Order: sequence, then C-alpha cells, then structure tokens
Amino acid sequence: MTDLDSIEWEQDENGNPRPVVMFEITAHTGHGEINAKYLNAILERIRERDFQGKAAVVAANLLGVDVYMLLFQFRDDGKKSFCLYNLSSGRGWLRLTESGFINFLSYVRSLPPSERRSLPVSGECSCHGVIIERDHNRVCTGCGATVPMDMDVELF
Ligand SMILES: [Zn+2]
Repeated sequence: MTDLDSIEWEQDENGNPRPVVMFEITAHTGHGEINAKYLNAILERIRERDFQGKAAVVAANLLGVDVYMLLFQFRDDGKKSFCLYNLSSGRGWLRLTESGFINFLSYVRSLPPSERRSLPVSGECSCHGVIIERDHNRVCTGCGATVPMDMDVELF
C-alpha cells in the first residue's frame, strides 16, 4: 500500500474539485548541497525499490495530471530549495527557489487542463519566473526574457 503525498486542486466551472498536479514529497534533512548522486539515489529508490513511483504515475494518470518528485530542503542559509523531477514524463531535475516553486504552481494553474502535462519547464529565471521551452527557445513566463537554448539552465 502506498499513499499519495500531495494533490493540488482547483475548482472547475461547476465548483467541483479538479486535480491540477500531484507531488511525491521527500525532505533532505542533512546539511550541504544536494548533488547529482543524491538525486539519482532518490529516483532509484522511488522508481525501483519502493514501487511507489510507478504507483504514483498510475494514480496521476487516472487523475489526468503529471506527478513530480519534490525534494524539499531547508538550507543552512535559512532558505528553502525545491528540486522537481517529473516522474510522468521522466524530465528533470529542476531546482527552484521558494519563489520559483510558487511561480511554477501558478504557471501550471494558469494553463488549460489539457496543456498541463509534460511541461517543457527548464529552469528558473533571475526574476523567479519559470523558464519553458517554446519554439526552439527558452522563454521566461514571468518577465518574458528569452534564454538561448545552448545556455545550460538545468542544474543537474
Ligand atoms: Zn524572468
């Protein structure tokens, strides 16, 4: 048996709850930076050993949404960081600040339900807006800035 960690909801046109996106949440409680090895270990655990990742993807599909692995960290500098991996589409990792994560949720909510899956999110802008890939460009959904595709904005 597994549980579903977190489901974001909205109200549809008739006032009924409609799922927006799902998260499997884990916390990084240690000190220091999160590195690629640590992130890979999380994915290996959730995908293979625990069965939880596969079950979460099936559940999210039934809900019609994507499910993200969300690694949450209280950092030594007092800030929080959020690492996201899209388990449904196998895309990630993406590191966001707290503001960036809030903007990510707002961005997903702003899209029509049919366009919320397999989002081509590739980073966070200095304005904390979400950077998405669109027409062979990376565009910030906050300030509208264009980021060249050859610039590496993925942190891992
Ligand atoms: Zn921006």
